[in-house]
Amino acid sequence: MSSDQTWKDKYFQELESAEQREEHWKAERNILERMLVRTSLASAGQTPELDRLLDLIRSDLRKGKVEVDSWRQLQEQIDHQIALLDEMPAAAASHSHKPSVAMVEGESAVSEKASETGPLEPAPGIEDQSQRLRIARRVGHLLGQLLSQVSLDSSAESRARNLQKALLSSGNWDELRDGLNQVADLIVAAVTRSQREFEAFLKRLDERLESLQEHFFQQSSAQSSRQAAAETLDRNIRDEIEQVGRHIEAGGDLNELKQSVTSHLESIGQAVGRFRVEETEREKVLSEQLAAMQEKMAAMEAHSEQMQGQVKKERARAITDLLTQLPNREAWQERLSFEFNRWRRYQYPLTIGVLDIDLFKRVNDSYGHKAGDRVLQLVAREIKKRLRETDFVARFGGEEFALLFPETHAEDARAVLDKLRAHVSALPFHFGGEPVTITFSSGLAAFNPDDTEESVFDRADKALYVAKDNGRNCIKIG
Ligand code: GH3
Ligand code: MG
Ligand code: MG
Repeated sequence: MSSDQTWKDKYFQELESAEQREEHWKAERNILERMLVRTSLASAGQTPELDRLLDLIRSDLRKGKVEVDSWRQLQEQIDHQIALLDEMPAAAASHSHKPSVAMVEGESAVSEKASETGPLEPAPGIEDQSQRLRIARRVGHLLGQLLSQVSLDSSAESRARNLQKALLSSGNWDELRDGLNQVADLIVAAVTRSQREFEAFLKRLDERLESLQEHFFQQSSAQSSRQAAAETLDRNIRDEIEQVGRHIEAGGDLNELKQSVTSHLESIGQAVGRFRVEETEREKVLSEQLAAMQEKMAAMEAHSEQMQGQVKKERARAITDLLTQLPNREAWQERLSFEFNRWRRYQYPLTIGVLDIDLFKRVNDSYGHKAGDRVLQLVAREIKKRLRETDFVARFGGEEFALLFPETHAEDARAVLDKLRAHVSALPFHFGGEPVTITFSSGLAAFNPDDTEESVFDRADKALYVAKDNGRNCIKIG
């Protein structure tokens, strides 16, 4: 039946969008796991035992086996280690200093330097304390990123926001230690919530599909009872007509014959009347069922649309860099694979570029991290504005951007980038009233027949280093 076909199509569509959602949850879980790895790396270097436990977390994540129960035990052990850490003399606890911990928003370059080379050699306890506070700030910063990538329920969200505020501003280590533990809880909560939501959606979908199936069953049984009624009517009419025929053949009295015909016609009329009444009743029931079913379908479609919208929004968030609003490294990998496959099939020219801001560390060191962030945003905006629709740019990391120029030879891409280079170097940046020139260097490489995604990227990266060695503010082809 054609309506069966429509329901089947709807069912398969639902199944397909459910699979897409599952893909999304996987991507989200992936982000959370990576966030956890970074958080654990940021906390490393306190004591060997704590490092060992953090290492276990990373190793579980690498193997992809996260068992909530065994992780709860791990967390208790970590709590215990942190408690021990507090009781230890500061010099014993801090066995390494991690220069890789980046400065986070809100900290000024001055305070950063003071903690490292201040005029007075800080007492060991104070250094340890400031090391821990730096870690807490870093975790606070990561937590902010995490919150912008996942959706929590509103009470967990406000708890997390307060927690982030405390991590970024409080100077009380005891308060922060609890806060760090709560971060792990929040990550577990975010992952399980996503799974729970998805499971609940599937359950609802399943219930709705079941009620639709029931409806099909009712409809087809109504159909068969209607057929039975039609057959009965047909048989009644045929019987009556046969009897009239027999009377005529018997050739009896004309009056008797008339009476017989009249009474048979009456019987036929009554049978048709009964059939009509039943038919009206059957149609009423069917149309009520149809209306109820349409309502259910509309609810199901609305819910599904809402889920799709949410999935789309979260997907966009997951592949966008927060600071510059450009596609992030994740998005870069996807697009690179896509263009690489197209290039393999159609063999049109394809050029890849790596762009790195020159001496960017100086900007941070001289004018502060916030000024550095602003430069990144403005340069990102200029790049985006000056590329063609078909070109692609992503923030690859730090002050580095990766570009793709489909259907473009390396020399043509160089001309585009060179214009951009001249434009950026002439931008009137001002920090603290001083004019500052910002430049970038770039390496380009075109795909050759034996290239892989990695080999061509490496060539562009090497060309970037040649550009840096050649005095920066220039573009080289590898
Ligand atoms: P080069 O010309 O050789 O590229 O020198 P450079 O100073 O740009 O290179 P280097 O790799 O030594 O420094 C990059 C700096 O970029 C260090 C890091 O703190 C800074 N950075 C990375 N990400 C961010 C960010 O999101 N915001 C800010 N403000 N700075 C960042
Ligand atoms: Mg640089
Ligand atoms: Mg760099």
